[in-house]
Amino acid sequence: MRLILLGPPGAGKGTQAARLVEKHGIPQLSTGDMLRAAVKAGTPVGLQAKTVMEAGGLVSDEIVVGIISDRIREADARKGFILDGFPRTVAQAQALDVMLAAQDMTLDAIVELKVDENALLARIENRARETLAAGGTVRADDNPDAFKKRLDAYREQTAPVSGYYASRGVLKTVDGMAPIDAVTKALDVALAG
Ligand code: AMP
Repeated sequence: MRLILLGPPGAGKGTQAARLVEKHGIPQLSTGDMLRAAVKAGTPVGLQAKTVMEAGGLVSDEIVVGIISDRIREADARKGFILDGFPRTVAQAQALDVMLAAQDMTLDAIVELKVDENALLARIENRARETLAAGGTVRADDNPDAFKKRLDAYREQTAPVSGYYASRGVLKTVDGMAPIDAVTKALDVALAG
């Protein structure tokens, strides 16, 4: 199964993707995770991405398209994958179409987690608190200033991606405000249908 999870920051894409990994045995391809790993490792991509990520902006299409194009060719992605945080611009969605066609691959589902934007900041603050309580390190962009910019980037550049897929009649939506288990169930139903 090849699946895209769409939704604003804090919608629960990462949480649900982790559950889908368990259930379907396919990898979660999170561009955010891959970029954070690149920043941590100090690679050339990481060095380019660090400042823009910390400020809550979007990394260039060229960089993320390159990352995904390489990643979907790896052996573990042959059975399928869950894209989490990609595509985030219409240009990325178009580039994805081209790279999938080149590999004779098609998408099985594109699901958007719909959430009330007013609840998102509280979710991000909660994620930061839980991470700290578990002894982890809080993401550099999980703070109110960067979050506001991430939400702006979502509204301006990522929301049109939903329209891109909706206009083709391939977009499904799930209520992301429901409790986590209920969202998981609704996702299962959406993916089965
Ligand atoms: P995420 O973990 O998905 O919230 O992503 C964290 C940050 O990584 C974003 O705020 C962007 O700066 C960057 N990022 C992740 N995925 C993309 C993407 N597909 N396009 C551009 N920037 C991205």
